[in-house]
Amino acid sequence: MPNSQYNALLRIDIQNDFMANSRVAVPNAWQIIDNVNILSKSPFFQLVIDIRDKHSVSNESFAKWGPHCIAGSPGYNPPENLYLDDDIPVFDKGIDDKIDTLSGFENKDLAIYLQKNGIKSVYLAGLALDYCVYKTACDSVGLGFETFIIIDACKAFNENFAQGPEFKASIKKLNIKLVSTFDVLKNTAGAVK
Ligand SMILES: [Zn+2]
Repeated sequence: MPNSQYNALLRIDIQNDFMANSRVAVPNAWQIIDNVNILSKSPFFQLVIDIRDKHSVSNESFAKWGPHCIAGSPGYNPPENLYLDDDIPVFDKGIDDKIDTLSGFENKDLAIYLQKNGIKSVYLAGLALDYCVYKTACDSVGLGFETFIIIDACKAFNENFAQGPEFKASIKKLNIKLVSTFDVLKNTAGAVK
């Protein structure tokens, strides 16, 4: 794993509607928050970025998923125990009512922002591993970023997804690397931000 200063942590869809009490709630999503918070404060990352789902009340994806992450609603907001900082910019996706946005890179400003900041490696954490995290990882590879999924900082709708042969074959083919929170943190043990 590279220990350069060009690493970005992308926190995907860590929002109330994906945490609980909605049709898009991801099982046991709360379990990732401690790891995400520790990672967010690590000097390993030059940038920490939030990707959020943000829809109008008439988004067509609601036919499939049910209403979620409506702009201005509590469901759009991050959970109260997620570490936030003024230095963490937010990139919204899903503004277009016609498109069921999964990848964070469907917000074109994200790639521009990463490139402008000299980011070489992208690390992904958040929800859900089998949809938005996975699709964001695929696009990240396509854009030329070395791409890592921090597996114990993600949860999937299908809890067997990460063990499935399809996922394993796909990440091997795309050269997406799976790491743990510990793998990331041990790079910077003793470092001070
Ligand atoms: Zn959505």
